[in-house]
Amino acid sequence: MLKSIATVSLSGTLPEKLEAAAAIGFDGVEIFENDLLTFEGSPEDIKGLANSLGLTITCFQPFRDFEAMPEPRRTRNLDRAERKFDVMQALGTNLLLVCSNVHAAAIDDDERAAADFFALAERAQRRGLRIGYEALAWGRHVNRWRHAWKIVQTANHPALGLIVDSFHTLAVNDDPTGFPTDKIFFVQLADASRLSMDVLSWSRHFRNFPGQGQLPVAAFLKEVLKAGYNGPISLEIFNDEFRAAPARLMARDGLRSLLLVEAEAGATELPPPPIFDGVEFLEFAVDDEQGRRLGETLRGLGFHYAGRHRSKSVDLFRQGRVNLILNSEPDSAASEHFQFHGTSVCAMALRVDDATQAIERATGLLCPEWHERIGEGERNIPAVRAPDGTLVYLVQPAPTGRTIYDDDFILFPDEAPPSLVSSVDHVAQALPTGRMDNFVLFYHAVFGFSPDQLWEIPDPYGLVRSRTMVSTDRSVRLPLNVSESRETATGRFLTTYAGAGVHHIALATDDIVHALEQASARGARVLGIPANYYEDIGAKWGLPDDRIESLRQHNLLYDQDESGEFLHAYTDTFDGRFFFEFVQRISGYQQYGATNAAVRMAAQAQQRPSR
Ligand code: MG
Ligand code: MG
Repeated sequence: MLKSIATVSLSGTLPEKLEAAAAIGFDGVEIFENDLLTFEGSPEDIKGLANSLGLTITCFQPFRDFEAMPEPRRTRNLDRAERKFDVMQALGTNLLLVCSNVHAAAIDDDERAAADFFALAERAQRRGLRIGYEALAWGRHVNRWRHAWKIVQTANHPALGLIVDSFHTLAVNDDPTGFPTDKIFFVQLADASRLSMDVLSWSRHFRNFPGQGQLPVAAFLKEVLKAGYNGPISLEIFNDEFRAAPARLMARDGLRSLLLVEAEAGATELPPPPIFDGVEFLEFAVDDEQGRRLGETLRGLGFHYAGRHRSKSVDLFRQGRVNLILNSEPDSAASEHFQFHGTSVCAMALRVDDATQAIERATGLLCPEWHERIGEGERNIPAVRAPDGTLVYLVQPAPTGRTIYDDDFILFPDEAPPSLVSSVDHVAQALPTGRMDNFVLFYHAVFGFSPDQLWEIPDPYGLVRSRTMVSTDRSVRLPLNVSESRETATGRFLTTYAGAGVHHIALATDDIVHALEQASARGARVLGIPANYYEDIGAKWGLPDDRIESLRQHNLLYDQDESGEFLHAYTDTFDGRFFFEFVQRISGYQQYGATNAAVRMAAQAQQRPSR
């Protein structure tokens, strides 16, 4: 399928948009009239540029408020169309998108609309051009594709066809089955998260790429293909954040989303996402001094120093199934990461059933394998890079039971103390403003993770939006946090850290009170929770007094969902950069205590030097 993107979807000047689309690998672009109007050169210049970049101009749009207008507007519209035809011929495109009329003067008369389209198509055909009619979801009289199709049928002209758009169909829960055969001239795709607002504002500001929202775009595309359509598939996205983001970043997401939706619709094949089995390890970039301090912190949390790398300045701390690697090797990717971000997580490893297949899928979705320098005798672990550059290793357990630690580390034989925690429950990341969709698409497309519900969490200094990406079996959970304000916990993290990154690591335990008591005895510092919180949850959940008192004593936070209960507590932050969380899930609780995040952020804000 020819892959196209509307210029309105990308930031920059028209030549910048074309260059970004071509560089990422699109085959074509829809030229948005506004982009042309603000461009210094002529339509012929754009034709020349598109040719030199190997881009087809798939469509020129939009031509508004055309059909079923009273005179003299009707005649004026036909004259106006001739001028658009001139531009199209100079651009070298043959398709004009006419969207359904929204004008107050439009007449509710399908026969008139059909007659107008016939006249327009006649004029277009004389010049070798074609007309596509698209029903806008907020069109004055025509706002469903079936209605537009009826008018196209009545007009019955070979140069007139239908344009269908997933947003205009799915946003209003219209039925996408039964598209006409051979009369679809063009297909536009867009997704969106379900929002309760008027469809016009929703459409103009909050569309996103297929796979980033909640509309069944793949099912829509499947119907289009079933109708025999084999023309261009074009992304038409109106999104304020996209228009503020670098054009190439957005173009890459766009193409990735098209490759994904094509496969989901059954038009192409991609290997399935891997089956996950939790987090294998997290790697911190440190230097010697910070590594020593972080090692102390980890001991306080119940980790033991388990091994030293055979050839590098890299240490392994372990507890239960949790492996934390502290990398202070000079002149390495980790040291670069440390120079730029300070002490922080520079890599994450996920356990998968088939790493080779996982890399194949990632590569098919524009996320090629990343090769890290390795030493002699070290195991090569396949990796890809998350959108912020963090390495994500894919560790496939060997059938022999021999681990990557057996290969690369000298493991210390001394006994490990009893573990306080069993595994990594979730790894939360702070993202730069405007990048939620970017990360959601990466985890959804490459790993098949699905988004949990969106939370808006009040921080004392602004709002934090949080959405968790979860693997199908829920063994990997990655909460993603974004803040508009630079003063929230998330915003400050980004400033201190110089970019996106892990801001907390939650460790699962079966006995959180015991874990906290042990950790405190070893010198771990737990975040203090204000007494008012306990008054509040006592009333909210009707907990007995002795239970509340025990929670208060241990600075434990409490939540419930329909299946169970959640107990969790946070450590103090390490240099204001990241912190750990102990969590205990009771009888299948599935959330993350999002309602308590505000309390946590307020408590953390109190610990910071005042503004
Ligand atoms: Mg459209
Ligand atoms: Mg958490």
